[in-house]
Amino acid sequence: MSIVLAIILSAVAMTLIVGVRYLITSGAFAMATRARHPALYAGLDPQIRREIWWSLASAAIYGVPAGIVAWGWQNRGWTQIYEDVHAYPLWYLPLSVLLYLFAHDTWFYWTHRWMHEPRAFRIAHAVHHASRPPTAWAAMAFHPIEALTGAVVIPLLVFLIPIHVGALGLVLTIMTVMGVTNHMGWEIFPRFMWKGPVGAWLITASHHQRHHERYGCNYGLYFRFWDRLCGTDDGLGDFTRSHERSRARAAAGARGGDADRGGADRAA
Ligand SMILES: [Zn+2]
Ligand SMILES: [Zn+2]
Repeated sequence: MSIVLAIILSAVAMTLIVGVRYLITSGAFAMATRARHPALYAGLDPQIRREIWWSLASAAIYGVPAGIVAWGWQNRGWTQIYEDVHAYPLWYLPLSVLLYLFAHDTWFYWTHRWMHEPRAFRIAHAVHHASRPPTAWAAMAFHPIEALTGAVVIPLLVFLIPIHVGALGLVLTIMTVMGVTNHMGWEIFPRFMWKGPVGAWLITASHHQRHHERYGCNYGLYFRFWDRLCGTDDGLGDFTRSHERSRARAAAGARGGDADRGGADRAA
């Protein structure tokens, strides 16, 4: 098989993996949302369809660089990904995960802040903020330019920072789960975690909810470090108002349905 064909196949395979991973993860958390807060996504079907289409487009943008690098790792020894767990001291395993998360968070914070400049916002970031309120399906709902800024991070980091393949899997899992749960519209983590001292430094849904509500604050991804350092941390949001609005939407939808049925009955 020619090298070009092999690289293309690797890119296609990775696109499928990222797309299916998105559908399974977002689908699972959307089901959890339906069980926990049945009315939360009431009336949001058109928005959810948009979120899914943008996210699947992003899956291709994420999949191509990841697929190329994965091919090079397997066939050419590119990257610093290692498979022998003893190639580095064991204490390096958690450290490498933290280094990746911190590097990703740093990149995300500054590119995200840049995308809130008016011109960049209109072009690259308005798509993500068109979700009001975002749902579990919005995790990868990005304009292609924004998706590209996110897609290059891990494929570049694997050339720079050594990481065990299992630890890399953990980084990708954290990335996927946090991307979904931060947009889900409610807190899945126990209160002591996001309200207490841990939550003072870790980002969960309440922190990112305030970003989607107020825009010019809370730009971080995993940690509140850069927001706090740069004075852009505006504390935690709360879901009371958005949950009230969703109940109102559900009630209006039910009344609309009754009215439709009434009209149909009269017409019949
Ligand atoms: Zn967001
Ligand atoms: Zn934003």
